Amino acid sequence: MHLKRLEMIGFKSFADRSELEFVPGVTAIVGPNGSGKSNVTDGIRWVLGEQSAKLLRGAKMEDVIFSGSETRKPVGYCEVSLTLDNSDHRLNIDFSEVTITRRVYRSGESEYAINRRPCRLKDITELFMDTGIGKEAYSMIGQGRIDDILSTKSEDRRAIFEEAAGIVKYKTRKREAQRKLEATEQNLERIRDLISELE
Ligand code: ATP
Repeated sequence: MHLKRLEMIGFKSFADRSELEFVPGVTAIVGPNGSGKSNVTDGIRWVLGEQSAKLLRGAKMEDVIFSGSETRKPVGYCEVSLTLDNSDHRLNIDFSEVTITRRVYRSGESEYAINRRPCRLKDITELFMDTGIGKEAYSMIGQGRIDDILSTKSEDRRAIFEEAAGIVKYKTRKREAQRKLEATEQNLERIRDLISELE
């Protein structure tokens, strides 16, 4: 599975619609300082569901929207689409090409889509779980990340191995099931109280 295409509209320094095609093999992005190389990787992080403005090198989420330049007015929204080759069906979806899209407006309203069909962030997160590609996964190694991994707590380091081992989705489902179980137990408790009041 490889990244085929990244399309950005109004994202950070990419005011106009910009499209990058990634051919199989190694792709290097070169350019002068401040030309937007890191903004490309921020775009990939963002479309995968990154919620931390800080990790996207901004102060607030709105900072990902093109904020204007000497010659251009700011824009009202930004959109990033990432297309992946899924001919090996590593992503559990019945398409050989998958495009995920994220759009955000200055009002803060966010929209997500898988193959142009609106979806929830949760659907995108689940699609990439245990593939090594998600926003927390090890396929994106940002500046300073190696130092982080080496100096981080052992539990945090274990999370990287768990993603590689493919057990994150089961742990997530277990947590969800436990939450539902707790809620059901609380409901049962209330029902028992009501019954004893009535008796
Ligand atoms: P370096 O080689 O120094 O690391 P780079 O090529 O990685 O640089 P980036 O950090 O990707 O460059 O891009 C920084 C540029 O993006 C800056 O000029 C900054 O003004 C611009 N930029 C970031 N966010 C926005 C935004 N919301 N609107 C307009 N421009 C933005």
